[in-house]
Amino acid sequence: MRIGVFGGGQLGRMLALAGYALGHEFTFLEPSPEATRGLGTTLEAPFDDARALAALVAASDVVTYEFENVPAAAARWVAERVPVWPSPAALDVAQDRLSEKQFFGACGLPTVPFRAARGRAELATALDRVGLPAIVKTRRHGYDGKGQALVTCPEDLEAACAVVGEAPCIVERRIDFRRELSVIAVRGRDGSYACWPLVENQHDAGILRQSLAPAPDVPPALQALAESHVRTVLERLGYVGVLAIELFEVDGELLANEMAPRVHNSAHWTIEGAETSQFENHLRAIAGMPLGSTAASGVSAMVNLIGTLPSADAVLAIPGVHLHRYGKAARPGRKLGHLTVRANERAVLQERLRAVYAVLQAGAQTDA
Ligand code: ADP
Ligand code: MG
Repeated sequence: MRIGVFGGGQLGRMLALAGYALGHEFTFLEPSPEATRGLGTTLEAPFDDARALAALVAASDVVTYEFENVPAAAARWVAERVPVWPSPAALDVAQDRLSEKQFFGACGLPTVPFRAARGRAELATALDRVGLPAIVKTRRHGYDGKGQALVTCPEDLEAACAVVGEAPCIVERRIDFRRELSVIAVRGRDGSYACWPLVENQHDAGILRQSLAPAPDVPPALQALAESHVRTVLERLGYVGVLAIELFEVDGELLANEMAPRVHNSAHWTIEGAETSQFENHLRAIAGMPLGSTAASGVSAMVNLIGTLPSADAVLAIPGVHLHRYGKAARPGRKLGHLTVRANERAVLQERLRAVYAVLQAGAQTDA
């Protein structure tokens, strides 16, 4: 099948790598291609370029996204001409933090207390209502903690205004969670459904650093709760493809933070650590093929490689380690690759992870 993809970053790269095994062909629409170079045809143009959109339609039997900030009008124009999965309606919800949180509420998923605000006066009122500490986030275009400001005392309002300016915002109560989890599930064109085990995520400065899968200490009731949440969202949206929901675990409750209408960083471990990877199942879903098992094989950790890459020889010498490099130029704060560390037992996984971090700390090296 000919698959068109909005975006050409590492998620597109890993989709293509999984898709070649199924005999699919790929066309990427990407204004600054790097990670998908050599993995298909690239239309190097802005997402709303009329000629490039027409070329994407002509080259595709089905179109999907690896990037959620595609202009909604562009996605709709394509969807009028060729099937687009997930549907542009899912993009609408996920592109705006306010509609996302309101949608969670409508689906019965609890969230942290929040309020919409724009400009200094509304921000001050919203902070007052929500209570401190709070986080101010721009409603659109934020990722990896960008466009966010922490407010712990009234004096922090100035600094928050400097970050968000007059942009429409959401003000959220900052909560103390036990941990961050994510639930990743997939729904097929025929309504079939599968869900991977819950993943435990560690963020630092708003960027995902490490995931553990399956998340340790997850009672069956917590897994069932997460699955019921994600299933409600999938059904409400008539969703097709992989969907990730980021959750905060607080006193055995799961608060929905945000969702990604695409494959997700916290499920990269599924490439080696699950019977079927998120990338393969996303493609199976949008192509109308049966879904594969989402069972984990042993235990896995995913470690993001941010800013610099370690020596490949050093990390690959550790048993159970798999290296993924995205073919992107090194820049501080940029996701350049990831490691999957696999084992059959948690104690062994921890030992291998210690060896991995020793290599990462021993020095960054951007060798080829
Ligand atoms: P992004 O789109 O940048 O990933 P998130 O809303 O996921 O935005 O925020 C990034 C990280 O910041 C989260 O993974 C979490 O660690 C922290 N964070 C975000 N909102 C809250 C909150 N309301 N309370 C506590 N921590 C939060
Ligand atoms: Mg997030």
